Amino acid sequence: MIADRILAWYDQNKRIFPFRGTRDPYAVWVSEIMLQQTRTETAGAYYQRFMERFPTVGALAFATEQAVLKVWEGLGYYSRARNMHRAAQLIVRERGGEFPGDIALLQALPGIGAYTAAAIASIAFDTRVPAMDGNLIRVMSRLSHTADSMALPSAKRALYRYALSVMPLDRCGDFNQAMMDLGACICVPGTPDCALCPLAGDCGAFAAGDAEALPLLPRAVPPRAVDVAVSIITCEDKVLLYQRREKLLCGLWVFALGEGACTAGDVISSLTRQGLAVNLIGHIGSARHVFTHRIWNMELYHFAAAAMVGVSGAEWVTLAELDALPLPIAMRAAKKKALSILGARKLDHGANINTGKD
Ligand code: SF4
Repeated sequence: MIADRILAWYDQNKRIFPFRGTRDPYAVWVSEIMLQQTRTETAGAYYQRFMERFPTVGALAFATEQAVLKVWEGLGYYSRARNMHRAAQLIVRERGGEFPGDIALLQALPGIGAYTAAAIASIAFDTRVPAMDGNLIRVMSRLSHTADSMALPSAKRALYRYALSVMPLDRCGDFNQAMMDLGACICVPGTPDCALCPLAGDCGAFAAGDAEALPLLPRAVPPRAVDVAVSIITCEDKVLLYQRREKLLCGLWVFALGEGACTAGDVISSLTRQGLAVNLIGHIGSARHVFTHRIWNMELYHFAAAAMVGVSGAEWVTLAELDALPLPIAMRAAKKKALSILGARKLDHGANINTGKD
C-alpha cells in the first residue's frame, strides 16, 4: 500500500525541524502559518523565537499587535501575524483558550484556510484529512496521473478525493508530512528524482514517463513594477516614521513613501502640504523589493527638516526607537541608511559633549 511505503520511508528520512514532533495545536498552527510563504529552513529560527516570546495562545492573545509584528519582522506577509493575533484573541475570548480541533471551527478563524486547517487537524488531532499544499498537489497529481488543470475546482476536488483514498486510518499527520517531505526532496517541481522514490511502483506519471509535465498549474500573474521614492527625513537626533494604514504592510512603520514617478521636488511639495519644510541633503541610494503582486523600485533620499513639527499618522523617533519598532523588509536598505545617519549624529553629539568637558 502507498500509505505503508510512504510512512516507512518517512520514518527513515523525515526532515528534522524545530517544529517537528509536537502535537500541540498552537505550536502546529504557528509553524504552519510561518511556512505558508517562508522557506522551511528560514522559518525554523523564527518559530523558536516566536514560541519563546509567545509560548501559549494566551500569551499571544494578550500581547500588543506591535509586539507581535516586531517578532514577525523579517518574515514578510504581515497579515499572517495580524490574523494570528486576532485568532488568538478569539480563541481566548470565545473558547477559554482551548484550540479547536474541528476543521470547520478552524477554518472560521482569521487566516486559517483549507490547507492550514487540514494540517493542524491531522498533525495535532490525527484527523483523516489531506493537507493539500503545493507539495501534496504535485505528488498526488503525479501518483494519480491527473492531467487536468489545477485551475479547475473540479480537478482539485478529484485530487483531494484521490489523496483521501490513499490516506491511512491513523498516523494521518505523519502521512501528510511524509508527502510534503517527498514533494520537497524527491518529487520536486520540474524533474523529480524517481530513482529514489519509495512510490515509483505506484506512480502513474512514472509509468507514463511524463512526471515533469505535472501538475498543470494556472499561470501566475507577474508582479507589477512600481517606482517608489523613500525619504529619510531627519531633524536633530530623530527621524520621521509613518505607520501604514494601507492594506499592504498595515500597522508597520515606514519612511515617507511616494509611489509613482516621484522626484525629490515632488517629495518636497508633498511634505510642504503636510506642513513640513525640508531641504534635500541628497540621493543616497536605490533598493528593490519584490512582493507577491508588485515590485517596489525604490530611490532613497535624505531630507533635513527645519523643525520637528507634528505630521498626521507619523512620529519623530530616536535611533533606539527606530531599532525597536517593526519595519517591513522592504525598508531594510533605508533603515540601514537612517541608522547610520542617526548613529553619526549621536557620535557627533557625544564628541561635542566631551569637547565641552575638556
Ligand atoms: S515516482 Fe517520481 S513522479 Fe512519481 S511520486 Fe515518485 S518522484 Fe514523484
